Amino acid sequence: MPKPPDNPYDLSRFDLDDILGTINEEVRERFGQGEVADHIPDLAGVGKDRFGMALALLDGQVHEVGDSRHRFSIQSMSKVHTLTLALKAVGDELWQRVDREPSGDPFNSLIQLEHENGIPRNPFMNAGALVTADVILSNYDNPEAMLLKFLQERAGDPDIGEDEKLASSERESGYRNIALANFIRSFKNLHNDPDAVLDFYARQCSIGMHCVDLARSVQYLADSGCCPNSGEQVTSAGGAKRINAMMMTAGTYDAAGDFAFYVGLPAKSGVSGGIVAVVPHVMGLCVWYPGLDEKGNSKLGRYALHRFTEITDLSVF
Ligand code: GLU
Repeated sequence: MPKPPDNPYDLSRFDLDDILGTINEEVRERFGQGEVADHIPDLAGVGKDRFGMALALLDGQVHEVGDSRHRFSIQSMSKVHTLTLALKAVGDELWQRVDREPSGDPFNSLIQLEHENGIPRNPFMNAGALVTADVILSNYDNPEAMLLKFLQERAGDPDIGEDEKLASSERESGYRNIALANFIRSFKNLHNDPDAVLDFYARQCSIGMHCVDLARSVQYLADSGCCPNSGEQVTSAGGAKRINAMMMTAGTYDAAGDFAFYVGLPAKSGVSGGIVAVVPHVMGLCVWYPGLDEKGNSKLGRYALHRFTEITDLSVF
C-alpha cells in the first residue's frame, strides 16, 4: 500500500491544472450522457456539450477548466447556503422542524411527510428546504437581498443575481413544490404564507453562478466555518462539520450512499447539473455538466469528481 503523504493538506505534490486537463478530456469524450431536467421549462434548453470544473483552494488559488465561467442556476446547491443561514438564525431549534436523516426517496417526494407529521427528513430535500426558507423569511429583513449579498460575499463576485424569468417559470410549473408547501403548512410546520415561501424558494434556486463562484461559495465549509474571501466566521467550526455531514448523507438526493462510495466528499447537487463539494481543510470545488442520471445528479459531473478523488486520493475516507 502506498505510504500516505506527511502533510495531506500540502497540494504541491500535484499538478492540478494537468489533472483538470485530463478530466476535461475524459468528460468531453463522453458528452451526451444523461438527461437534462425538464420539470422547469427554462432549464430544458441547455445542451449536453458543456462541462466546467473549478477548484478554490483555501490559500486563494483557483484552478479551472472548460466552461468554468458559464453561469447557470444554482438550484438545490442553494440549500447549503440557506441551511447555513437558517442555522445562524435559530441554531439547534431548526432540528425540531427538520430531521437530519437521509431519505432514500426522490428530492421532491411527499411520501414520508404524511407518516412523519410534516417534519421533512432533511434540509436538502425540497420539503426540508421549504422549511429552511420559512425560517429565513421569519428571521431576516429583506431575505432575497440578504441571500444574494451572502453569496456575493462568499464568492467575492458582486455580479451574482437572480434570474427573474427562471424563478417565475419554476413558480408557475412547480406543482409538487406547491403541494409540499401546503401540506407542510397543514402540519403547522410553515409559519409564513406558503406562497411567500414558494416565491423565496424559486428565487433562491434561480440565482446564477458559475463553477468558480460556487467553488468559492463553499470554502467556509472547508475552513472550519471561516470564509477565506471575506475573513468572516460564517458559521462555527461545529456548524461547518454538521453541514458537511448533511451534505455527505443527503446532498446528492437518494444516491448519497453511492456518491460517498465513489467520490467520498461532502457534496450538494442541483438539477441544473452543478455539484459543489468540499475537501475539508483544503478546498471548495464545483463541477457542471447539464445531463443528469436517473437520480437527478449530473452524470459526468459525478464522473469528474470520482476521477478527481481517484487521481488525487483527496477524499474524507
Ligand atoms: N428548483 C428545483 C426544484 O425544486 C430544485 C431541485 C434540485 O435542484 O434538486 O425542483
